[in-house]
Amino acid sequence: MLPKAIAAKRRLEEINSDATIEAHVMDATARNLEPLLSDVDILIDGTDNFDIRFIMNDLSVKHNIPWVFGACAGSYGMTKFFEPNEDPCLMCVMKFIPGEAMTCDSHGVIAPVIQQTSLMQTVHVLKWLIGKSDEIDRSISIYDIWEGNYQKFSMKKMKKESCKTCGSERAFPYLKSLQQTDIAVLCGRDTIQIRMKDRSFDLSHLEMKLTAYGKTKKNSFLLSFTEHQSGKRMAIFKDGRVLVHGTNDVEEAKAFYYEMME
Ligand SMILES: [Zn+2]
Repeated sequence: MLPKAIAAKRRLEEINSDATIEAHVMDATARNLEPLLSDVDILIDGTDNFDIRFIMNDLSVKHNIPWVFGACAGSYGMTKFFEPNEDPCLMCVMKFIPGEAMTCDSHGVIAPVIQQTSLMQTVHVLKWLIGKSDEIDRSISIYDIWEGNYQKFSMKKMKKESCKTCGSERAFPYLKSLQQTDIAVLCGRDTIQIRMKDRSFDLSHLEMKLTAYGKTKKNSFLLSFTEHQSGKRMAIFKDGRVLVHGTNDVEEAKAFYYEMME
């Protein structure tokens, strides 16, 4: 019943009770993320898709905050440190990044490659935070943890003047379009996320309504609902997001959503 952000916060506080951790339970969109950026030293990519990475890339350049890219699928991973105005940005180098179409949905992912990716990101972050930015490796690291292959490529010369994010005419396309899809198939979780723009939910009100159709359970973050008849499950968040569990079929998820929520 706990959102990931809250579960992560609690776990991290167990590890280090001196740290102050602010968790945000929300859909990460350009609009939601931008207000959180004041007083931020570095951004770390813990995401699972390129839509959100392009938003991070735009935010990084616009607010002059470095970010550390990290991606993995199967046994294969990549990491890269991006410093605005020093390095080419993700948009500049994107066509040189292999395996974009690979996702953990289509290929699964093994735990060691996640650990490898996060440890390499962490080294970049440590160097940045202690002011050793000149010691940060600016190349992209690409590795296959199963095969034991490890490669590095310099991307220095790939900065493009015409880049819409970091070039001479910056438009930050991913901040403008707010193109986060309203419906997303979540990576490897047999779950569809549905988000209606500019909508939020009163969970107590919804709980009263949904009790007629099935079993509900609520805490201060979300309402979980299992329909009697079909056994289908939904998690409903205050900020307007709904996760429909047990399907990868968008139409089926939408039908269930409208039946129950409208
Ligand atoms: Zn660029």
